Amino acid sequence: MSTLTEKVQASSLQFRATRSTAARVAAEREAILADPGFGKHFTDHMVSIDWTLERGWHDAQLKPYGPLSLDPAASVLHYAQEIFEGLKAYRHQDGSIWTFRPQANAERLQRSARRLALPELPTDIFIESIRQLVQADADWVPSAPETSLYLRPFMIANESFLGVRSAQRAAYYVIASPAGPYFAKGVAPVSIWLSTEYARAGKGGTGAAKCGGNYAASLLPQRQAYDNGCAQVLFLDTQENKYLEELGGMNVFLVCKDGTLLTPELSGSILEGVTRSSIIQLARDRGHRVQERKVSAQEWRDGFASGEIVEAFACGTAAVITPIAALKGPGFVAGDENAPAGELTMSLRKELTDIQYGRVADRHGWLTRLA
Ligand SMILES: *Cc1c(COP(=O)(O)O)cnc(C)c1O
Repeated sequence: MSTLTEKVQASSLQFRATRSTAARVAAEREAILADPGFGKHFTDHMVSIDWTLERGWHDAQLKPYGPLSLDPAASVLHYAQEIFEGLKAYRHQDGSIWTFRPQANAERLQRSARRLALPELPTDIFIESIRQLVQADADWVPSAPETSLYLRPFMIANESFLGVRSAQRAAYYVIASPAGPYFAKGVAPVSIWLSTEYARAGKGGTGAAKCGGNYAASLLPQRQAYDNGCAQVLFLDTQENKYLEELGGMNVFLVCKDGTLLTPELSGSILEGVTRSSIIQLARDRGHRVQERKVSAQEWRDGFASGEIVEAFACGTAAVITPIAALKGPGFVAGDENAPAGELTMSLRKELTDIQYGRVADRHGWLTRLA
């Protein structure tokens, strides 16, 4: 299978590199990059790093992309001890490849690991793992406008043991998937569905951790959103069933008519998005007031009706910013499903993507060069 083997020095771990002999030829790769979609195609390589209680992190490898071999008793398959991250590699005009705030993703993966009783991966190893993969698969980073290489680091407990306790064996991986423009036909506002029946996370639960289990809990309500003509589901807090939390995989912002931005305060059950925190910074830089506080669904409905709230959007790495035209729920529609995207929404979206693609100055030092 593998031919070329080389050793690469990382700051605290040696990566052993084994090049794929089954790498797609240029024509094949270009055909995929011409219309990559999202999360459908994967590059030629992946990273894996093993962890055991005795040895800590060891055996870091860049290797051909391929199936994992797991014992059927691996704890991740039974008790969902799994966490993940999502970030992107962007090709700039001059061909160089960059990523956005990877330290924030590394630190969030560490927080997720603590909550899920998994081992913490040091920040330098996290960033080196991404660099290794992106350098090996640099040709997979597309260059068309608003395209990127989506990076998916994840960690699983892979000890073969059915007893219930935190695993003493785990593995970390990084895979990469070319991503087309999220909105192929231009940024289109969506309607979202307010779930009053289900929650994604509760007080003391795992809502602030980026773990697969939270997503599993959101899939049925997400299907209800589709069934009601909505693109996404919005969840409320579990104590009062009143205050906005977030969407299944995105944070939410409202824009008031005086230019104030509102976003739910981090409640302990909300995932702290890197996009969310970047938008707060960019809006404050422009002189907008940003309030992180409790925002009730009723305040949003009333605000849309009275004109006090003039825009709404969701944000996350995959789609950056998605304008929200209407909030729907059992027996109500707030806003206008056919409303165009808000002005501030679109201008923040442009500023953030301009930074990511190197079209404007990176004044906060958010970019890290990968290749
Ligand atoms: C990943 C994620 C987000 C968005 O986080 P970003 O860092 O901005 O991509 C929001 N909510 C949930 C539940 C997530 O998993």
